[in-house]
Amino acid sequence: STFPGLGLDPLVVSHLESKLNISKPTSIQRAALPILLSSAQEDTSSRDVFIQSQTGSGKTLSFLLPIIQDLLPLSSHSYIDRSIGTLAVIIAPTRELAKQISDVLETLLKLRLRPEGENLEASESAPRLTRWLVSGLLTGGSTRAHEKARLRKGVPILVSTPGRLLDHLQNTSSFNVGKCRWLVLDEADRLMELGFEETIQGILKGLDGRQKLAMQAVEEGKSMEVGGWDWSRRRRTVLCSATIREDVQKLAGTTLQDPIVIKA
Ligand code: AMP
Repeated sequence: STFPGLGLDPLVVSHLESKLNISKPTSIQRAALPILLSSAQEDTSSRDVFIQSQTGSGKTLSFLLPIIQDLLPLSSHSYIDRSIGTLAVIIAPTRELAKQISDVLETLLKLRLRPEGENLEASESAPRLTRWLVSGLLTGGSTRAHEKARLRKGVPILVSTPGRLLDHLQNTSSFNVGKCRWLVLDEADRLMELGFEETIQGILKGLDGRQKLAMQAVEEGKSMEVGGWDWSRRRRTVLCSATIREDVQKLAGTTLQDPIVIKA
């Protein structure tokens, strides 16, 4: 099967080929993309997912591509600005891993939007997705004040280590994460090895609390509604792990709801 055959947007497919030289999906991508892409059938869309696969299998793109495709429609709402806040949170166990994910994400977000009917020459001047989908890295590598300032401006897709994320959830009041619709726990086995279980539980509590407040605001008519955008969709959690040790299963049990398990 091919990337378009798995449901990936042609715009994203051509960007993958030209910028990352990737044209053939790996086995984990063939298994995960149809389930994680929003074009998936009703009964699987927004279900939680447990991805069991080794590093090097291409699992990073298995979750980054569906997140980008899910948020892509935002770029057609020209009146939307970054005040919409954080829509996807990706948690990695170490700074190095978070940086790697963030680098791939940055490359993917450089894709240019091609309005319907426009020819290829014209697309060179088309706006880049980075205008709408800014990514941010929270790893403690820069000062807290600097990170707070970035969060205040709005970072739609966030990559973070656990401790730093919990710190901001507890201490940065302008961190707008109430509409978050994706949570990825990458390398869950290492998250457990490094003793992050309690931190992850704290993060979930923080996300749930803020989401509740945001939903209340929508119900009370205080919050901006966006045409065609389903804010009420539940947050979808994706957990990746190379192993299914007991401790990982325990984490999956508390973070995933009735997950689809994908192995490749
Ligand atoms: P990951 O398992 O996500 O760490 O990816 C390992 C490496 O495989 C990265 O360097 C990716 O750029 C590369 N990769 C991911 N998907 C593909 C693909 N479909 N074809 C070729 N290389 C890929």
